[in-house]
Amino acid sequence: MPFSCLADELKQRDADGLLRRRRVLQSPQGARVRVDGEDVLSFCSNDYLGLANHPALVEAACAGAQRFGVGAGASHLVTGHTAVHHELEQKLAEFTGLPEALLFSTGYMANLGVVTALLGRCDALFADKLNHASLNDAALLSRATMTRYPHADLAVLERQLAASTARRKLVVSDAVFSMDGDIAPVPELLALCEKYDAWLLLDDAHGFGVLGKTGRGVLEHFSSRLTPHPSYTTFHATSRVESRNPPQVGRIIYMATLGKVAGVFGAFVAGAPELVAWLVQAARSYVYTTATPPLLAAALLASLRVIEAEAWRRERLAELVGVLRQGLQLQRWQLMPSETPIQPLLIGSSQDAVRVSESLRQRGILVPAIRPPTVPQGTARLRITLSAAHSVVDVQQLVDALRQLENE
Ligand code: PMP
Repeated sequence: MPFSCLADELKQRDADGLLRRRRVLQSPQGARVRVDGEDVLSFCSNDYLGLANHPALVEAACAGAQRFGVGAGASHLVTGHTAVHHELEQKLAEFTGLPEALLFSTGYMANLGVVTALLGRCDALFADKLNHASLNDAALLSRATMTRYPHADLAVLERQLAASTARRKLVVSDAVFSMDGDIAPVPELLALCEKYDAWLLLDDAHGFGVLGKTGRGVLEHFSSRLTPHPSYTTFHATSRVESRNPPQVGRIIYMATLGKVAGVFGAFVAGAPELVAWLVQAARSYVYTTATPPLLAAALLASLRVIEAEAWRRERLAELVGVLRQGLQLQRWQLMPSETPIQPLLIGSSQDAVRVSESLRQRGILVPAIRPPTVPQGTARLRITLSAAHSVVDVQQLVDALRQLENE
């Protein structure tokens, strides 16, 4: 049999509790979803503000389809770049307070595109050990020397930067760590980048729309400790600089995805005009791919309006995080330290994590078990994600179920 070696590997994965399985969803995202024919309370999407099925976004998508059809038909550089893509890029730059923004089809492609466009064999990339897989893949593809530092360990990173003689240096970090929920020490990372003349790529896939008072992401979250580049006229944090010499955001390459908080699909990179101009030339995952359907850009413009107008969604989310953390003080399993909507419950072994996830499912609650290699060995967890679509009663139901399971 030509593929029998794969069948053996699959069997082994299953025996180790590591086999990944897909579920079939028969409803839109929301607090409650229909999965494999069953209605369940869901704590697994990244739709943190509950926008994936928002009527204003659905309406904008339909209007976008009426105007532009359903397919872009070509790459951005050929004839796929429509007026609505263009408007969205301008709005994203305005929204983040950075000079220019460039749309990519997915966050995975954005990370591949940026890193391979900026780095080659003579360069060095420094990566947090818990970064998203797409950043690691990007590093490998670029052929730059990749050095990983222990999670958020600034002292080790500084030693690595100091020792490097590479032509270009790029520090890359998730802004909110996707499987842990904690926030990267951005001002400190940026200060190190200033000291050692490196660029800083921040992947704000899980912070954009959620972090900061008005949802502008990790840069707004830390705005009192950052200062704009002198040529940036729009950066919103100008007036609130507290520390004496705060690092400048001018060396930041900001990436965020649009399929999570924004509720639709896609990603963008924002930063200096020269950076964006270079990416248009050299980011292969931008140049050699079809532009996203324009109707999605139309939905994303509506999404930005909702993110700005409906501050209650971020307030609800903060309240729900409080309810969960207050209620879920268990003996056996612990919530990891996190102030974001990603609230992982550390279980330990993969088999146990799968068992708890299955038991919740029998109680009508969906929470995924995250296992190695996505997370380090021995740290399998339930990745609980909260959404503004949830109510306090929903969260309480999860808390009660986990309390019962702890004693079984
Ligand atoms: N970066 C991070 C931190 C992510 O969590 C993800 C999605 N899991 C991505 C990048 C990739 O984004 P996309 O799903 O748009 O490809």
